[in-house]
Amino acid sequence: MNESIQNRIAQLLAGGVVDMHFDLPMDLYEKRHRKDVLETEFLPQFETGNISVVGAAIYIEDHYLPEAGLRIALDQIARLYAETAASNRFAICKSFREIQLARETGKIAFLITMEGVEPLGNDLNQLRVYYELGVRSIGLTHARTNAAGHGGIFAADGSPPEGLTAFGREVVRQCETLGVIIDLAHINPAGFEEILSITTKPPIVSHTNARRYYDIERNISDEQIKMIGERRGVIGVNSILVSPRTEESTLDHYVDHIEHIAKLIGIDGVGIGFDFFEFIYLQWPESRRKELAKKLTTPHFIPDLTNHSHARNLAERLIDRGFSDADIEKILRGNWLRIFEELL
Ligand SMILES: [Zn+2]
Repeated sequence: MNESIQNRIAQLLAGGVVDMHFDLPMDLYEKRHRKDVLETEFLPQFETGNISVVGAAIYIEDHYLPEAGLRIALDQIARLYAETAASNRFAICKSFREIQLARETGKIAFLITMEGVEPLGNDLNQLRVYYELGVRSIGLTHARTNAAGHGGIFAADGSPPEGLTAFGREVVRQCETLGVIIDLAHINPAGFEEILSITTKPPIVSHTNARRYYDIERNISDEQIKMIGERRGVIGVNSILVSPRTEESTLDHYVDHIEHIAKLIGIDGVGIGFDFFEFIYLQWPESRRKELAKKLTTPHFIPDLTNHSHARNLAERLIDRGFSDADIEKILRGNWLRIFEELL
């Protein structure tokens, strides 16, 4: 790579990269008996990739539900706070101003998010508690059905036809009142439309892919992409569901998803939600991988986009594909920062 391209990549990354979906708290919890996991296992990759803001997603795996959902969620948040306190390189942020402050002092900002409201049970009061703990973005469901609604399935059709439950609608309204971003990732098509009908603020889809290239209801259709665009929302592109085929799971195809969304709703509507998952997948025994394949899918990891250090590869590929510097900066951080400024 010639020097001028290297300089251009360095300049593009210097302002930071925002990744709106990372299953970090779950991994910190599984490694709760180790010390300094953030500094030893994650910081080097964050630094290489100039990662500036990470959506740290609370997610409760099936085997903890239903009884332990609340406790595991609190434990995940506790580990994130403990690990953050043990380092001077990170900050848990609850507002746009706090994100700005973290950046000014060279810290990586965590925004705590929730993927599936299982931790709330069916108790709306607990939403306030999680808000106080710092949760600032909530997606109602993962692929499962829960007290709020139904997740989109990993097939072209067959998701439950119902929208949200009464509880789900209450959660959405309360999120808008409190100032919690509503994340439409994973929700089934009926729930997607219902959320848009009862909210007014820009919606986000933290991590998803275009159904045009991977036609499952867990992903987002052209119509849905346009609905997000009309409301000035942002869609984060996921790295592990770019294609149903291994050989098509490439960095170029990841950029195809970005291009497709930008073509439909403009460059202001697309961001990053890497959803890096290979490091967790590799820790699993064969039996759990098989269970995932049976329940959902086998993820196809993009070889040169499997961890945060690879944000550099993405910046380089966006340059190769002819994106302007201004557009690359919007994709890497600017669009998400606009959402944070507006909503947090
Ligand atoms: Zn997800």
